[in-house]
Amino acid sequence: MASKDELGESLGVTRSARPRAGAWRGAAVCAVAALLGAASTGCGKAKGTAEGSTGSAATVAGGTGTDAPNAGLVNASGASGSPEVATAPGKTGFRFVVQEPKKAELKMYRPLFDHKRLATVIAALNGIQLPRDVPVVAGECGQVNAMYMPKKHMVSVCYELADEFYKKFSSLGHDDQTASDETLNALTFTVLHEIGHAIIGELELGVTGGEEDAVDDFATAFLIDDVPNVGAEWASDGAVAMYLLDSDKGSKKPAYFDEHSMGEQRFFNILCMVLGSNVEKFKGLVPKPLPERRAVRCEDEYKKKDKAWNVMLEPHKKKK
Ligand SMILES: [Zn+2]
Repeated sequence: MASKDELGESLGVTRSARPRAGAWRGAAVCAVAALLGAASTGCGKAKGTAEGSTGSAATVAGGTGTDAPNAGLVNASGASGSPEVATAPGKTGFRFVVQEPKKAELKMYRPLFDHKRLATVIAALNGIQLPRDVPVVAGECGQVNAMYMPKKHMVSVCYELADEFYKKFSSLGHDDQTASDETLNALTFTVLHEIGHAIIGELELGVTGGEEDAVDDFATAFLIDDVPNVGAEWASDGAVAMYLLDSDKGSKKPAYFDEHSMGEQRFFNILCMVLGSNVEKFKGLVPKPLPERRAVRCEDEYKKKDKAWNVMLEPHKKKK
């Protein structure tokens, strides 16, 4: 099994990576905290302005942070091979395919999908034994979406979703570099969310509670446990993205019937896991945006959710 540090290195993320605005949590969580009326003094002024945005979305850097103390959620041995091809011919598992979009305005997102980050994270998931080949296809879909298709045994991630994330993060007043970083972080979270659906579908696992919440938990736990230093920040940008995607409701009534929890709830649930994974490190999240009465439960919540996924995946981890 590749050590967690090896996985961090192979993602091109080091402690010397470009520092981010404010504290560990980056500008996006602070911006959403402000929208929710919960900005804390720990949130510095967001770096960059909308005028600086050129829309290139081409450069991506990691963040900064310290080691996560947790055990890996999956056997990350797959990460040590070539990140370009997740599975060798004839082998089963996740295989990342990046297609070229036709629409000119979507082409600028190709570097985000080509960044070794996504390929490496997807390869790491091949520590889980799947019964078949499961392509994860980044392509133009004609809609803002990402989905697991159980009958086709594949995951689709749309360029249009990258475009939506980039515009949402830019709308917070973040410059091109910051919005590009945040878009890649949110895409990483989303790919893991869909892979969570695929793992449940392909392995025919049961789920207690809502599957949408369960796979948010999977994505968050994977990032915290298997991506040292920066995974928690990527997860928190995923939390922000889930909030922002659901923030255009206007005067419309919330869709209580929807299988997803409200964007606001997903935001707090993900941040609660981040806090719970290392209360000392992430104490700046309390009491704003995370109120004390939720925060006191987060360590226990994180442990139970992390354990649940570990217990479910254990029989399916590849033997070394
Ligand atoms: Zn989902």
